[in-house]
Amino acid sequence: MRPHEWFHVQPLAAGVWQLTEPGHVAMWLVVGPGRAVLIDTGCGLAPLRPLVDELAGGVPVTVAQTHHHMDHVGGSHEFTEVLIHPAGVEGLAAGVPADRLAGYREYALAQEEAAAAYADLDDRFFHLLRDEYRPRPLPAALRDGTWSIAPVTATGTLEEGDVLDLGGGRSLAVMHTPGHSPADLSFELVGEGLLFGGDTVNTGPVYVQNPDSSLTLLRGSLARLADRAPALTRVFCSHFMRTAVPPSYLQAQVDALDALLAGEIATRPAVDCVGTAVDEAVFDGFSFFVPRGWTARTAAAHAEEAAA
Ligand SMILES: [Zn+2]
Ligand SMILES: [Zn+2]
Repeated sequence: MRPHEWFHVQPLAAGVWQLTEPGHVAMWLVVGPGRAVLIDTGCGLAPLRPLVDELAGGVPVTVAQTHHHMDHVGGSHEFTEVLIHPAGVEGLAAGVPADRLAGYREYALAQEEAAAAYADLDDRFFHLLRDEYRPRPLPAALRDGTWSIAPVTATGTLEEGDVLDLGGGRSLAVMHTPGHSPADLSFELVGEGLLFGGDTVNTGPVYVQNPDSSLTLLRGSLARLADRAPALTRVFCSHFMRTAVPPSYLQAQVDALDALLAGEIATRPAVDCVGTAVDEAVFDGFSFFVPRGWTARTAAAHAEEAAA
């Protein structure tokens, strides 16, 4: 398999592409006359830079990370300029421990096997699968154990209110949208109606189960993004089989989090993509992963304790 074949390339607007590792993670390339910004770099299972350079057409490429998690920084070492929120600098520089990679490897292999059955059922009955989402054969690096994610030293930081100027009047506005992690950034393509939400917005389980995740922060971040809905036409997210949602989806997630935080939603046991036992609050079309044993009551008590 040639490296390019691992990535699905989808034009979203003039000079804007979604690059997807189907079934794994999506990233976005926005090109202006002065520079290109690559939002995230995927899992690092195949070389990314040749494809990005080809699409960028010769302008310098800046990587802007939505956050520091392993599935978003895998190709960052291929680029010279990498920007991230200050809360993600350490994580980006730390690299990824072997047990995290092994956990994800197991998930990827299980998904590959399930995908064959899923595609077969889809071909026979459902006809929903499009090329963008059809899982592709996993690159050799994942099978032969040579997959690693190099530590990267950020060359600069991005914070709430920063603007990335791409020249020619094109720019990306930076919003700090913590909750999934403390470092989460979302990027709005100013005046063009596109929002890139990274892991702040997702269409499968939204991961809020990590020790540094916060449901209340996520609720606040999504509410801020929902306030931008009138200026938006499409919202893009990093994972699963729906990586584009309408702006109204943001308020639906805020409403769901309000119900969850009010203790109105029962959870069920689940397992995340690196094998951690979690609980899952399920809504129509998405869910939230919370720590195993989480309840709205204990969360409120913890918040009160922290405030006291
Ligand atoms: Zn993440
Ligand atoms: Zn992710």
